[in-house]
Amino acid sequence: GEPYFSHCVETAKTLISLKLDLNTICAGLLHDTIEDVDSATERHLANKFGDTIAALVQGVTKISKYPLQQHGRDEQRQAENYLKLLLATAQDVRVILIKLADRLHNMETLQFQPEDKRRETAKETLEIYAPIAHRLGISRIKNRLEDISFKYLLPYEYKNIAKALNRKLAEREAYAEETASHISAVLQQASIDASVGGRPKNIYSIYQKINEKGIPFEEIYDLIGMRVLVNRDIDCYTAAGAIHTRWPHVSERFKDFIGLPKANGYQSLHTTILDHGRRVEIQIRTHSM
Ligand code: MN
Repeated sequence: GEPYFSHCVETAKTLISLKLDLNTICAGLLHDTIEDVDSATERHLANKFGDTIAALVQGVTKISKYPLQQHGRDEQRQAENYLKLLLATAQDVRVILIKLADRLHNMETLQFQPEDKRRETAKETLEIYAPIAHRLGISRIKNRLEDISFKYLLPYEYKNIAKALNRKLAEREAYAEETASHISAVLQQASIDASVGGRPKNIYSIYQKINEKGIPFEEIYDLIGMRVLVNRDIDCYTAAGAIHTRWPHVSERFKDFIGLPKANGYQSLHTTILDHGRRVEIQIRTHSM
């Protein structure tokens, strides 16, 4: 029921929030023109807005027509393959970023679509676009895409988790703040220059933990995520050592993604400590990581 242009503006706004360049933002505003406007062609756009913007819009149009279907069970590898396929078609990663911004707004307005279309779009988003956002390291968009898809695919489960989280929100926030200042104090004592903050966990990742990792319901809601940012690579290990000296940690949950980065280049130390029986998940990395 809103003017169509609002979709273009929202897509561009997401690209601005990702701090992308001017050409990408302009292409975000124009992303549906070749597909939806009879008189608009790549050449027409090139004359008016330049070759780069025209090529980006053409790329989005091309990959939107690409039939993508989820077959395998290995989501990471599947995302990797799709990304390669889309990149080969698009020639420019910015095309994929525009497509993700476009999909995000489609998901945010999904309630205006008919029921069967909603489920179909949510499934495709969860299986294809969220893993691609993850692969590109854009966790804010990945989390949003996952949570909205989850809401439409498993509404009952979504509501249960969201309600339980909300009920404990104030308590969780107070506890996160207190824990952050404890960790800060420990690191300061070890002479490590660090900034410590909470990190929100998305609803779908909580659902996955309950279902796939078998972590009990109550423990999940108690679970707090923290992020420690330091200056140098070596400080990550010193910080982990200082934290492990102060709190017991879950040994099988300690992961070194600095020595062995993930396929997408992600680097961090991950550890889970126990604070009065509560699990605190900590990611430690440098600002540049
Ligand atoms: Mn669109």
